[in-house]
Amino acid sequence: MRYALAVDLGGTSIKFGLVSEAGDIVLRHERSTPKAGGPPAVVAAIAEGLQALLAGEAAPALAGVGIGIPGLVDPETKTVALAPNLGWADVPAGALFAEALPWPVALENDARAALLGERWRGAARGVDDVLLVTLGTGVGGAVLSGGRLLRGARGLAGEIGHLPVHPAGVRCGCGAVGCLETEASATALVRHVEAALRRGEPSALAGRPLSPVAIAQAAEAGDAVARAAFDRVGRFLGLALAGLANALNPALILLGGGLASAEAFFRPAMWAAFSAHVLPAHRAAVDIRRAALGNDAGLVGAAYAAFSAAVAG
Ligand code: BGC
Ligand code: ZN
Repeated sequence: MRYALAVDLGGTSIKFGLVSEAGDIVLRHERSTPKAGGPPAVVAAIAEGLQALLAGEAAPALAGVGIGIPGLVDPETKTVALAPNLGWADVPAGALFAEALPWPVALENDARAALLGERWRGAARGVDDVLLVTLGTGVGGAVLSGGRLLRGARGLAGEIGHLPVHPAGVRCGCGAVGCLETEASATALVRHVEAALRRGEPSALAGRPLSPVAIAQAAEAGDAVARAAFDRVGRFLGLALAGLANALNPALILLGGGLASAEAFFRPAMWAAFSAHVLPAHRAAVDIRRAALGNDAGLVGAAYAAFSAAVAG
């Protein structure tokens, strides 16, 4: 059996996995994303994390390493054009990893990696027209159309997080104002609650450390501020998904990323907005579901990218 090393680089943590050719994660490791030191510190943390993952193991037969990046990866130059939530712009990631790691490296956008993972081992198995949206620190997107990953002219297609949805909204990490990511990410959820608390709206969350988990617990307990924040996330997400469904005609829309686990709290508002804006022909035909592999989708898909790169040579 051959294996691939898989890395899912996020804004807060880095996940590592040793993944078999059958798509099983057989070893795992996790560490936090270095906050200082820029790209070299992240590359070093990944090299160390991979060593830690393999420590004490008899050397497995490795096809290579696949790395999911939370940003726009130029497939020609292997440069990260922009990773808004890492603060990276024009980072020659391919060259940095090639220097630091002794294996061939395949770089893929994190949301695309999640879609590849879901298609291989999850909810998109056998489905050719899929839209995947990840709701985490940022909002990521990937599109499978007619069984092929939509890549675009420079290989950068799928940036659903930067769909403009609120021109009078707040500035996004990409530099523009009112991107979907500024309204429907986990970061945005926390910001919506902070704004309500600043306005003096009564809430059990007042004076407590805010996190998506704390907000979900408050919503569960009926807290109006927490519920309104989830409603807002749902409204903007539903609006964006309707537009995307109208333009792309997917059979399946998958929601991934950490915030998808709180789907129960934003689903009603998401469906209301989706139904109000989607074309009648699509309304009953699109299935919106949670990604099946949960937080593992990115690792499994990064491994898939490594195996594919090894086959392509
Ligand atoms: C980036 C995407 C990424 C997403 C989730 C966005 O800000 O532009 O490339 O997929 O965050 O990490
Ligand atoms: Zn943006």
